[in-house]
Amino acid sequence: MKRAVFLDRDGVINAAPYNAEEGKYDSPYTLADFRFLPGAKQAIRLLNQKGWLTIVVSNQPGIAKRKCSAPFLEALNERMRAGLAASGAHLDAIYYCLHHPQALVSELRESCRCRKPQPGLLLTAACDLQVDLATSYMVGDGIQDVEAGLAAGCKPILIRRPRSLVMKPPTVNGTRVATSLLAAVKQILSEEGEP
Ligand SMILES: [Mg+2]
Ligand SMILES: [Zn+2]
Repeated sequence: MKRAVFLDRDGVINAAPYNAEEGKYDSPYTLADFRFLPGAKQAIRLLNQKGWLTIVVSNQPGIAKRKCSAPFLEALNERMRAGLAASGAHLDAIYYCLHHPQALVSELRESCRCRKPQPGLLLTAACDLQVDLATSYMVGDGIQDVEAGLAAGCKPILIRRPRSLVMKPPTVNGTRVATSLLAAVKQILSEEGEP
């Protein structure tokens, strides 16, 4: 059994562009909008070096909402993998939930078990890659990430967004918080006694 750090994508690895129309942070829907957050590549390389599996688990309803295409999502993955490789880092796997309960694309309209806060993506990944959930972490910038992590039986770390400055590290109501993926990874390594 291996240990993993499950990673939300948008707002953790790459910047989540603000969608003013919808009043929320969204996913990048052009390659030009894909930008790594500071320290993210270094954080993933650190996990690689310390023997942790790095697995992206992300809700990506863009295809369901006709905001992007399947080939675009593939191209974005390639861009992300290439950017990481250039820094000597890699992801062991990428799992996306493509569903949405109100999807415009009928084949993707589903109340599925993989859309976070449901733990389906983590459970599937754990099964595929022999991950020990109890010793693994889930890092995300949304409460749905924390909930999915807890539901899967792993330890969640919440990356706080700028607007939630009321929260102070290292914990809020018992949930670990960090200001960035790199800070979260340092917290994990120190907690596990392998800084
Ligand atoms: Mg996110
Ligand atoms: Zn799903």
